[in-house]
Amino acid sequence: MRNDSLRHKGLRNQLAQQLSERGIQSAHVLEAIRVIPRHLFLDKTLEAHAYEDRAFPIGAEQTISHPYTVAFQTELLEVRSGMKVLEIGTGSGYQSAVLSFLGAEVFTVERQLELFRKAEVFFRTFQWKPKLIHYSDGCKGLSKYAPYDRIVVTAGAKEIPNALLAQLSIGGILVIPVGENQQKMTVLERKGAKEFHKTTYGDFQFVPLLNSTEGLVR
Ligand code: SAH
Repeated sequence: MRNDSLRHKGLRNQLAQQLSERGIQSAHVLEAIRVIPRHLFLDKTLEAHAYEDRAFPIGAEQTISHPYTVAFQTELLEVRSGMKVLEIGTGSGYQSAVLSFLGAEVFTVERQLELFRKAEVFFRTFQWKPKLIHYSDGCKGLSKYAPYDRIVVTAGAKEIPNALLAQLSIGGILVIPVGENQQKMTVLERKGAKEFHKTTYGDFQFVPLLNSTEGLVR
């Protein structure tokens, strides 16, 4: 495992400060940004830029989300310690490390084999790890461990997969970016068996949430 350093910690403090100035309010989320070494989730060649608020390639034509986006989605999730959280789109694993740091029991799903394997190896030696990394199509959710208190989708969905709604507990929250070229951050709170309360926020740009056969990189 590569090292963390005082310099990296200093850069993380600056990044947390920037995110707070942009409107992230949760002290827990900002603490996660200050603690989780994002540079370890990136290729070594990108290390010097890891604490800029930017997205970077992580392989298989995918990207790690902007820190602001991670913080924004995490804040909307209102995660409390002990909650069961499903993440669709493991990617680099950074978002699931943030959720694990917050005390969630994280189940994360990735459909690109290369990224799934990389995340499995990475988390063997990393402190804040998901409970399970699963290789499958996240549009179907992960019914075996449902229901979930929280579900977060980290890829842009053309429409909200029904399976995710079905696997959310009553009182649970789903955070999902919805749209084709740009996505509206969408929050669905499950009020009852068939009752959802929807709130939408600003525009974001995610890589697409793909179904089981689209765009697999081998
Ligand atoms: N949460 C990630 C963001 C990665 S980008 C991070 O912190 O780095 C979005 C990820 O969603 C990509 O890795 C992509 O392969 C994955 N993805 C897209 N469609 C998916 C699907 N149907 N099921 C599971 N993962 C999917």
